[in-house]
Amino acid sequence: MTNKLIIGNWKMNGSRASIKALLAEIVAAEVAPGCEVVVCAPSPYLAMCAHILSGSGVRLGAQDLSAHESGAYTGEVSASMLREFGCHYVLIGHSERRTYHHENDAAVACKTVRALEAGLIPVVCVGETPHERESGQTEAVLSQQVLALTTALSSSQLTQIVIAYEPVWAIGTGHSASADTAQQAHATIRRYLNAPCSILYGGSVKPDNAAQLLAMPDIDGALIGGASLNAKAFLTIAHAC
Ligand code: 13P
Repeated sequence: MTNKLIIGNWKMNGSRASIKALLAEIVAAEVAPGCEVVVCAPSPYLAMCAHILSGSGVRLGAQDLSAHESGAYTGEVSASMLREFGCHYVLIGHSERRTYHHENDAAVACKTVRALEAGLIPVVCVGETPHERESGQTEAVLSQQVLALTTALSSSQLTQIVIAYEPVWAIGTGHSASADTAQQAHATIRRYLNAPCSILYGGSVKPDNAAQLLAMPDIDGALIGGASLNAKAFLTIAHAC
């Protein structure tokens, strides 16, 4: 398998000062060989982060992008703008976007195509809600989310995306999926994708559970929320690769 990918999703947190301090620690640390580290910053800080990260091995990502290329879409940020300001990655379809901004699978697929066209690596988030898991619908939900991608993307485009499995019940709750549960979901996603994509796990990844999760055969990295705001915790997770 390729490198493990460790992505921090800062969500809507941080300030100029706190981000500078956080990045200083991350950049100064040795990244384990075989591990790529990415931070996804809020849009206003992307240019500053790109400047700080230039020349380091740490890559920059955004947390969302517009489904449109350009034009009269007030408040939106296009894929080419993100690329121009130093982003290599972009998160798409995070459960918080799906819930609070009503992004459906079609919009997620459209954004994924826009990202690829601009030369960004899309990190497409999928995952079931607590209700969907409790009612035995996990596989159906994951297959439907994946089907939207396999339908909209060409087979060569499919090989260029990253998937993040983020069960909604594990996000920000402190209750990660067990390594076995996550592995099972990842294997399901891989089967439906039928393409050699990296599949990351996200949802309460912490220094004390990262190694176990990352050791599973179908877990190719981690997408980290809360713990990515603390340099020591984030780097400990990265060293668990
Ligand atoms: P937590 O790591 O805080 O559970 O967040 C996960 C997440 O949503 C990353 O995108």
